[in-house]
Amino acid sequence: MSRIFNFSAGPAMLPEAVLQQAKEEMLDWCGSGMSVMEMSHRGKAFMSIAEQAEADLRALMEVPDNYKVLFLQGGASSQFAMVPMNLTRDKRKVDYINTGSWSKKAIAEARRYVDVNLAATTEGSRFTTTPGQSDLRLSGDAAYVHYTPNETIQGVEFPYTPETGTVPLVADFSSSILSRPVDVSKYGIIYAGAQKNIGPAGLTLVIVREDLIGHAIEGAPVMFQYATHSESGSMYNTPPTYAWYLAGLVFKWLQDKGGLGEMAAINQRKAQALYDAVDISDFYANPVDPAGRSLMNIPFTLADPALDNQFLQEAEEAGLKTLKGHRSVGGMRASIYNAMPEAGVNALIDFMAEFERING
Ligand SMILES: *Cc1c(COP(=O)(O)O)cnc(C)c1O
Repeated sequence: MSRIFNFSAGPAMLPEAVLQQAKEEMLDWCGSGMSVMEMSHRGKAFMSIAEQAEADLRALMEVPDNYKVLFLQGGASSQFAMVPMNLTRDKRKVDYINTGSWSKKAIAEARRYVDVNLAATTEGSRFTTTPGQSDLRLSGDAAYVHYTPNETIQGVEFPYTPETGTVPLVADFSSSILSRPVDVSKYGIIYAGAQKNIGPAGLTLVIVREDLIGHAIEGAPVMFQYATHSESGSMYNTPPTYAWYLAGLVFKWLQDKGGLGEMAAINQRKAQALYDAVDISDFYANPVDPAGRSLMNIPFTLADPALDNQFLQEAEEAGLKTLKGHRSVGGMRASIYNAMPEAGVNALIDFMAEFERING
């Protein structure tokens, strides 16, 4: 068996230790005589898995007691609708910050339900910057403010948490959750699809402040109300049990690594090494303002795009896979989430230097 370094934006690499443990427990979880996939979600065995995963996540992120943690389906894309459906009963106005492709999708979905005030947009810079706090034109009386802390496609990340006063802050943390410590108490809602930095696809994590639960708009489907899932411990219907279990293994792995402070230091090192390799060379370039560069998703271009395909093919032969950039941006993109080892980033940097030496 040989494992490659997978730079995919998502679904992305999982820690090898997690996959090994899942493999060992595949046919017989802890003497239960069955796989986690075969268990009743309401049985004692799975309930213990579910509760432990939630407890470990709460400890890792220091989630305050007045927040619920929900384990849902539907992806971050469902949250684009669920957020306005649950937070706008009394108000018709919401604020959105537009910093890239995922913000745009969230905004388009919200517009189907409410009036969206664009509090800031960086489209003028082709999404290579983040707005500063003083650039935000917040309504003040909005039902919430929504932003995307890390834009997975453009590779821009907020270096700060927007201040919104008493207006709840809602964040799509799909591609940067668990990459560093976050002060959860500054947020009304944090949500994330699991397939980037949590676990396998099919699970969506929602951390929601309790006072924001129970106010869904008239006619909201039962499955699209936070109250439904909050009141039932995310077991109103069958939850994504295996993905929940694997997420739990990832939370344990993160604890073993030393927690989110330690992950932040590692992620900083990984990203800095790759940005340095790009910046010292005239052969590679990254268009993002250094103040807003993502630690998780690093797009880069070759000075001569005619070499793109050769770069990708030779990288692949060297065990460095899925480096093709998003079609809307072009070039390359290296996604280096928690599970990407430093050895993977170093292998990419070495490959890039050698490719430049031969073709530059
Ligand atoms: C991947 C991604 C999404 C979409 O997630 P799904 O779970 O596929 O719906 C939304 N927002 C961001 C920031 C993402 O990276």
